[in-house]
Amino acid sequence: MDQTSGHRKIALEEHFMTPDFVDYWSKTAINISPGLFGKVRDVLEDFGELRLAGMDRNNIEKSVLSLAGPGVQAEPNTATALRMARICNDFLAEQINNQPERYAGFAHLALQDPLEAANELERCVKQLGFCGAMINGQTNGAYLDDDRFSVVWERASDLDVPIYIHPNNPPDVPYMYHNHPELFGPVWSWTVETGNHALRILFSGVFDRFPKAKLILGHMGETLPYQLWRFDSRWLISNRGNMTLDMKPSDYFKRNIYATTAGVCSDEPLRCAVDAMGPDRVLFSSDYPFEKIDEAGSWIDGATLSDEERDMVCYRNAKALLRL
Ligand code: MN
Repeated sequence: MDQTSGHRKIALEEHFMTPDFVDYWSKTAINISPGLFGKVRDVLEDFGELRLAGMDRNNIEKSVLSLAGPGVQAEPNTATALRMARICNDFLAEQINNQPERYAGFAHLALQDPLEAANELERCVKQLGFCGAMINGQTNGAYLDDDRFSVVWERASDLDVPIYIHPNNPPDVPYMYHNHPELFGPVWSWTVETGNHALRILFSGVFDRFPKAKLILGHMGETLPYQLWRFDSRWLISNRGNMTLDMKPSDYFKRNIYATTAGVCSDEPLRCAVDAMGPDRVLFSSDYPFEKIDEAGSWIDGATLSDEERDMVCYRNAKALLRL
């Protein structure tokens, strides 16, 4: 760690790959050119020198690792999805055991069978020591506000672990992206898709039924922190009178929702997220290796935060939320 510089950090959206899962990934890695795909694969499959050197350069003490999506959420056969999710989690547990000081893990779940997904989450947390789960968007068109997933929210609440919703493509290509392939993917549609997923959960009352539920969003909260006042102002007149919530929409962002800096290295949205949600709700991440870890590290070290806020965002919030 002799080259370490910068503030101490924990990173939450850090990805890996293993050969068994490349087929799932490649089917939906439509935004990565074939040449880049091969290069990224090598980096994703490394759990040693390369990954640890990047962490050391940026004083990232611990990375919480997750499979690069969508993984088994793209598997048509439910039994196969369940079996492969266990293989993925056992593989990750092995990697964490090799470097227990440096790595932690988010469970990979086959949501095609919500009860078995909840059971697997419990196994991962209780037996493998994982910190929660990462969900890659919709599964066969179903989002986490669907009643069938109550068992997953209930189990995550009982285990007191967060669910991180990572972007994925929607089940179809909405007409609004017609003739604009550049908008379909990380530039814009992932933000719309994932922000919408979170709002479906919020407005369906999941956080009223499970007040202890914890939801993490990447990309500085997928633009939602910018919109809190408007959610509060407009939702009652837009819901056609048959929806109730225990609190204002913005209150859930301060009680149930967290945002990571994954994929956004920019002071203005960081300040917006910290000011709108609270300094205890925003957590550093680099989205390794899809974004540049050195850029993320040096940016957060110099970002417009007080010393107290920087230690919370870079380190203490993750330690508390994930009980590391
Ligand atoms: Mn990511």
